[in-house]
Amino acid sequence: MDTPCREAERSESHLIRLKATMAKCEEGYLCDVCGGDVEAITESDLYLRFVIGQIDPETLHTTRERHLRCNPTLAQFIVDESFEPVTVEGPFDKRKLDADYVARQEALVTRGWRRLAEVSHQPELTILEYPLPEVCEDLARRAGS
Ligand SMILES: [Zn+2]
Repeated sequence: MDTPCREAERSESHLIRLKATMAKCEEGYLCDVCGGDVEAITESDLYLRFVIGQIDPETLHTTRERHLRCNPTLAQFIVDESFEPVTVEGPFDKRKLDADYVARQEALVTRGWRRLAEVSHQPELTILEYPLPEVCEDLARRAGS
């Protein structure tokens, strides 16, 4: 059975854009904040936001790359024993935010980060297959419309 993302790939224009995206990504990116190399996908703020549905595949290659840790307002929501916790000082500190919102963000962002760890071991996947299942479904729906 096909996954929603495989269906999305069938659209030819989508595939062309995807190839352009992949070619760009192979060049590697420098962090927009600290200027260092973003070496692993699990360090990438860009890909984390992509897998949780905050960035469209079409804009992936035009969006600036950053280290996850260089975007602490997002990284603070990763709660995993293999991720050293990030804290934010100031108004975006999650300890000062609405508890329900924080719980939802932690669930989503942590799943997204674990997904990045997963796809980093699956070179056969295309970029369109990286996102979380509900995000893939949404992409497939939009590609078909
Ligand atoms: Zn950085």
